[in-house]
Order: sequence, then C-alpha cells, then structure tokens
Amino acid sequence: MNPEYSRSTGWGRSIQSTGVRISDTLEELQKRIANLDDERGALPIGLQRSYGDSALNSGGLQISTDKFQEWNLDADTGVIRVGAGVSIRQLESIALEHNFFPSVVPGTGFVSIGGAIAADIHGKSHHKTGAFSSVVKSMRVLYSDGNVRELKPKGATSNHFWATVAGLGLTGIIVDADVQLEPVTGNYFNVQERRSPNLDALLSQLGSADTDYDHTVAWIDLSGSFKGRGVVGMGNLATDTKPSYGLKSKQLTFPLSLGRSVITPLTVRAFNSIWYHKPLKSGEVSINAFTHPLDGIGAWNRVYGNRGFLQYQFSIPDGQEDFLHTVLSKLRAIGGASFLGVLKRFGPASPAPLSFPSPGWTLALDFPVGVPNLESTLIAFDEEIAARGGRIYLVKDSRLHPEYLSKMYPRLDEWKNTREAMDPNHRWKSDQGRRLRLC
Ligand SMILES: Cc1cc2nc3c(=O)[nH]c(=O)nc-3n(C[C@H](O)[C@H](O)[C@H](O)COP(=O)(O)OP(=O)(O)OC[C@H]3O[C@@H](n4cnc5c(N)ncnc54)[C@H](O)[C@@H]3O)c2cc1C
Repeated sequence: MNPEYSRSTGWGRSIQSTGVRISDTLEELQKRIANLDDERGALPIGLQRSYGDSALNSGGLQISTDKFQEWNLDADTGVIRVGAGVSIRQLESIALEHNFFPSVVPGTGFVSIGGAIAADIHGKSHHKTGAFSSVVKSMRVLYSDGNVRELKPKGATSNHFWATVAGLGLTGIIVDADVQLEPVTGNYFNVQERRSPNLDALLSQLGSADTDYDHTVAWIDLSGSFKGRGVVGMGNLATDTKPSYGLKSKQLTFPLSLGRSVITPLTVRAFNSIWYHKPLKSGEVSINAFTHPLDGIGAWNRVYGNRGFLQYQFSIPDGQEDFLHTVLSKLRAIGGASFLGVLKRFGPASPAPLSFPSPGWTLALDFPVGVPNLESTLIAFDEEIAARGGRIYLVKDSRLHPEYLSKMYPRLDEWKNTREAMDPNHRWKSDQGRRLRLC
C-alpha cells in the first residue's frame, strides 16, 4: 500500500511539512523502525505544540505517540508511570484526583509527556524545581534497532538518558516515563499580581518574587514606547481544596477561516495597554487560569492568519540584563511589537547537553511573519546572545543558523557523539535536525 502523505505545521504555522503520519502500537513500531529503510527517516511527535520545525519531518515518517496512553500511579510514593502520549493536562487531572500535582508544568496543558521530556520543558516554577527532567526518574525508549531500553538519570544508562532529555526526538521514541509527583493539599493557586512601570522595575520585582513564591512569571509590554513595563504574576498552590476550583475550564475555539492576521502594531498596542491596566489579581485563582492562561482559547495561533508567526525565546545569564534593554530599543527601532511577551527567571540548569534553561533570564516574544527587518534584527540578537553565554530555545525555533548552535550549546559535540551511539544508522530525522545539522 502506498504511504499516505499529509501536511502539518508547528504551532507557529509559518512552516509547512508533508510527511507520512503513523499511529502504531509499540509492537508495530518496533518492527517498523527496525526495518526502516528510508533516507528521510522517522520522527516521534506528540501534540505538535513546538512552534517551528522540531516536530516536522518532510518526506519521512512522523510517528504519533497517541497510542501510548497508559498510566499507573503508586499512591504511596507519588511516582506515576505514564505513557508518552498522555498530555500534561491529563497528568494534572490524574494527579489532583490523588492529591498530587506535577511540580513542572508548561504554559499550556496540551503538551505530551514525550514532548515535555524531549524539550526538557520549564514552567513558572523553574527557579524552585528546575526543568521537567528533574522529576523524571526513568524512561523507556525505543531505539532505532527496534529494542526498548530503560534509561535512568544516574548509572550506566545516564548518558543516553540525558541525550534523550531535550534531544528533540533524535535519539529514539520515549515510550513512557516514571514521573515523581509532588503531594499537594489544595486545588487552586493563591496569586498576587504587581504592575511595574519599566524594565528595571520589572526585573527587580520578578527577582524578588522568587523568594516567596514557587511559581512566578512576568508579562512584558513590547509595544508602544517599549519601556518594558509589565505585570508580575506570583503564585503558590493553596493548602486546602474548594469545590469551585479544579481543572475544568471552558474552551472557545478561534475560527478556522481567518486568512489575514489580526495582529497589527495597532491591535498589539491596544491589547498590551488593556493588559497593563487590567485589574490585578489578588487571591484565589483556578489552576488552569494561572498555569495555562491561553488554554481557554483553542487554536489561538490562527489570529496570525495564514502566514503564521514565530516565537523567539532566548535566555541570558545574570549580569547581562543590559541586553534586555538592547532588545527593547532595537525592536522599537524596527516597529517589532510583540503581541505576547513573557519574562521569567531560571534557576540551575539540568545535566542534559541540549537543555535550554540556564541560570538567569528568559524572554519569549511572538512576531507575525513579515515584520520588515525582523530577520536581520534577530540574527544580530542570535550573535549577541551566543557571545553573552545565552541560547535560543530550540522547540520554539524555526530560523536559527547552525553556526550559532555550538556557541549557545557548548556541549553539542558530546550530545552528537551519544546520539551516534544510540542511532548509528541515522534513522531519527527532523526538518529542524537537518537545518541545524543535528542529524
Ligand atoms: C501556548 C504554548 C505555551 C508553551 N509554554 C511553554 C512553557 O511554558 N515552557 C516550555 O518549556 N515550553 C512551552 N511550550 C513549548 C512546548 O512545551 C514544547 O514545544 C513541547 O515539546 C511540546 O510538546 P508536544 O507534545 O506538542 O511535542 P511536539 O511539538 O509534537 O514535539 C516536540 C519535540 O519533541 C519530540 N517528541 C515528542 N514526543 C516524543 C517522544 N515520545 N519521544 C521522543 N521525542 C518526542 C519531537 O520529535 C519534537 O522534537 C509552549 C507551547 C505552546 C504552544
């Protein structure tokens, strides 16, 4: 039977790819992968919430993990064995039912466990908990020889474990993982929000929030006068439960037919102004509203129209805050307003060579495709970020040039050597991997 090609995109919808989507059981996959003889290779995919081309494999196989849905919770230890296709949202729901919660959750609940490990995702809690890998006690990975191996963060398999963490699907298919959940007594967050009139005030407010709060984040206004004003959100999980809270929330879906972007400098400025002046939260907030604020609107990525958008997320070490001022002034000069700007502090890095978070600051920005002079500005940023010891978050990326990669990720060769040992026949491939010479 001829393979069926279908089109897909990352969350940014700016790059399209045509590949063959497969949804197999583990046993079927083991046979398929061991016998794979296709130059375009295969790539595991989760819920395709990565923004660029990390989860795309043009002309090759895109292996969905949607059949890996099993879970088994040990209620005494809080360790859950969870299939790679289970979403963070499902994990939260299972965990809460048993008075646990995952310590690391991203800005959307529609991320699979496999995608969370393969990107070593971070949440608002990074300054306290580190990245997602800090709660992964072991994982089972399907190698390209068709065998499934158990990998652990310490011991004989540790180099394969850490190459698979943030390994962007290029070392094997994560089948399931043992994840340590945190015992909790509450089902909502106690939240405080504070306005800051400019970048320095925002940095200072966010920095000091980390002492008293387990979860912190700042929304930053990158429009208008680009002063870097913003609102810091800080929260701790409550220590009691309330019937009115939990995970359930309504979702409105953005209309499919929108061809043109509704994101213009004018609408961005208006939105950011409303956001800055909105009433500040103080008190009880549902888990979803605090941890996954955008999940209330399904397919919000369509607001950018058919051309899509790109997200640019970088980190820079402590002491390099002046670069954030440079970013504001350069974006102002080109009129590069960002609809949504998110600023966060990072704590210690994980041992994974390609893990993104490292101590300091991270800024995530969204731009519609087609902003004049944006690409040359971002290339100048890439160069400066690399020189200052910072890096670009690869699952958000769709445009980085490979020459910057080894400067941003100095342990790249170590990762490549481990990948070579794990996949000597080079069966795992992705569009991003080809672009960045990772595979
Ligand atoms: C609205 C929104 C908010 C976000 N907020 C955050 C945030 O706060 N923090 C953060 O860190 N990230 C955030 N992200 C990014 C997101 O967490 C990552 O892109 C994540 O990897 C997406 O998971 P996924 O299941 O959609 O994976 P996909 O996008 O399908 O894949 C991502 C990568 O993981 C690999 N992969 C997927 N499944 C497996 C598997 N089973 N085995 C091996 N490799 C696999 C793929 O090959 C690919 O390289 C956000 C994304 C969106 C859209």
